Amino acid sequence: MKLLVDERDVKFVLYEQLRVEELCRRPLYAEHSQEMFDMALEQAEKLAEKEFFPANKAGDREGCRFENGRVKAPEAFHQGYQRYCEGGWLAMSDSPDVGGQGFPVVITNACVEFFAASNWSLLMYPGLTHGAARILHLFGTPELQELYQEKMFSGEWGGTMCLTEAGAGSDVGNLRTKAIRRPDGAFNISGQKIFISSGMHDLTENNIHMVLARIEGAPKGTKGISIFLVPMLRYDESGNLVPNDVACGGIEHKMGIHGSATCVMNFGENNDCIGYLLGGENKGMHIMFHMMNEARLFTGMQGLALGSTAYLHALEYAKQRIQGAPVEHMKDADAQRVPIIKHPDVRRMLMFMKSSTEGLRAMLYLAAYCLDRVRTAENDDEREMFQGYLDLLIPICKSRGSDLGFQVCETAIQVYGGYGYTAEYPVEQFLRDCKIASLYEGTNGIQALDLIGRKVAMKRGQLFKSAFKVTSEMLGRIRKDFQLRELIKIYDEAQESLIQVTKYFALKGMSEDFQVPVLNALPYLNLFGDVVMGFLLIWQAYLANRRLQEIYRDHNAKTEAQQKAVVQKNRSAAFYAGKMASAQFFINGTLSQASAKARSIMIGDKSALDIPDDGFALV
Ligand SMILES: Cc1cc2nc3c(=O)[nH]c(=O)nc-3n(C[C@H](O)[C@H](O)[C@H](O)COP(=O)(O)OP(=O)(O)OC[C@H]3O[C@@H](n4cnc5c(N)ncnc54)[C@H](O)[C@@H]3O)c2cc1C
Repeated sequence: MKLLVDERDVKFVLYEQLRVEELCRRPLYAEHSQEMFDMALEQAEKLAEKEFFPANKAGDREGCRFENGRVKAPEAFHQGYQRYCEGGWLAMSDSPDVGGQGFPVVITNACVEFFAASNWSLLMYPGLTHGAARILHLFGTPELQELYQEKMFSGEWGGTMCLTEAGAGSDVGNLRTKAIRRPDGAFNISGQKIFISSGMHDLTENNIHMVLARIEGAPKGTKGISIFLVPMLRYDESGNLVPNDVACGGIEHKMGIHGSATCVMNFGENNDCIGYLLGGENKGMHIMFHMMNEARLFTGMQGLALGSTAYLHALEYAKQRIQGAPVEHMKDADAQRVPIIKHPDVRRMLMFMKSSTEGLRAMLYLAAYCLDRVRTAENDDEREMFQGYLDLLIPICKSRGSDLGFQVCETAIQVYGGYGYTAEYPVEQFLRDCKIASLYEGTNGIQALDLIGRKVAMKRGQLFKSAFKVTSEMLGRIRKDFQLRELIKIYDEAQESLIQVTKYFALKGMSEDFQVPVLNALPYLNLFGDVVMGFLLIWQAYLANRRLQEIYRDHNAKTEAQQKAVVQKNRSAAFYAGKMASAQFFINGTLSQASAKARSIMIGDKSALDIPDDGFALV
């Protein structure tokens, strides 16, 4: 059963495109090697197949239960969670000082793809713990670290991120949770958080919450937010663990990720909830921003991973499901029936799924690789450059990863036909589990505003310009490949369209029409994503073509017919031919629409703004 992740493509991106093995030349990763990376990937795949995937359907059916104020995670999750923690996966990319294995982020991300594809709901428990543990590690006092850190990085205790309240979703600055200073320097916390993933469960004995709250008298809005470590069980003066007045008020019944407990959390109902300040007063948003890149990348990975497994399942199904005659024998009732993969429309859907997941994989791994380059930078310029790319890429990775991943899941259902809509097959669950990725961790609408409002404008647009300078240099080499010239032409036009819209936004942003860029932020983000993925896929096609030519030479295949025969017989050649096809399909089919998409933005239509509210419908 190898239907989780396209392992060959993972290795292609890691070693042939990004050449991540070269990271091992840098002191931080000097103790690692490509063999160790491969071993980690192999182990991740094994654990995903053996423990995570079998529990995925069971977790979906059983869901979480709220009984007598306690929450139970699906029974099937317990063993997988234990094995994950025992294997040290939770702290895979953290420093050995905290019990981590010090792997590059890009390798950790590739492993995450296996776990996420096999059981996203289960992965959320250690995923949130890791985020919370990192906050403690970066911003906690040595005393707090001593008490809580080790057990969090090992997964013995869980962790959560508590931002959302009923009146504070996207508008987190509106939160009401209060923190009142105590004589001992800690704080009394009171308030209610909603939608808290892993807020309470029985996979661990204790749960350490990272809670955003406002200290009495602090400024309104995001400026007055602080972050607190609030354990479910805290240590008393004698060092015993005692309850900390943290209660779960209930769990949500959701469309998907049924195995992930989404909780209403009540802090301080009995005025006995103690929280410990992290990173200083009113630094809550600063700390959250610090954590955002990794959290948003992780959410983008959800879309990629679920899209990836949906694609591989649909591909397998399309090879087995016999239905209909080939189009050239349509009218012949006696014609032999064929597997649906032989039908052009099904092939179109498969190509959409293949090129989308491959483009996303390249983009998300590139972002993770940028994080590694930031971590290992040899000077400030290098660090600043990769941090800049990363900042620009993150909202695109989160939004495109989740939206396109969802579209891939939806297309997988279409490939299955009616069976895809039934619970008998797994693709409907992939779709339900995927949808949430566009909503949490900042809705995709908010990601788009972040891209146009903060990222593109950063350093007066220098970041944007320098990103394309690097792309142009890289393309300089690729342009020498005669076979790719038509694709590169389309890419150049698409990049130019993106630049035009960016300039248009800059002008509009300073005029009384400043709402036009805001209105078109998501279409702009999508266009940007197409350009980034287009570039990465052309780069892949260039590498694939070089490898293909070598294989043809090895087989003495000179004519087109001989080369076709090689591709039919040789799996490696088929893979590289598949890479070329992905680039062609995406660039000819999607990227070629860039100028029309740019035009539709620059028409400056304001009907959505001008329409009276009652004009939407008289309801
Ligand atoms: C399953 C699940 C798990 C979650 N896990 C966690 C968790 O662990 N911790 C946590 O703190 N939260 C969590 N959340 C909450 C999640 O992050 C929020 O639901 C999300 O931030 C959106 O907030 P909201 O639901 O209040 O929607 P709203 O903020 O009300 O948004 C509704 C719509 O309006 C749009 N919108 C809102 N404001 C603006 C604006 N200024 N400009 C343009 N568009 C805007 C949004 O994009 C969206 O389309 C979870 C939610 C779910 C459903």
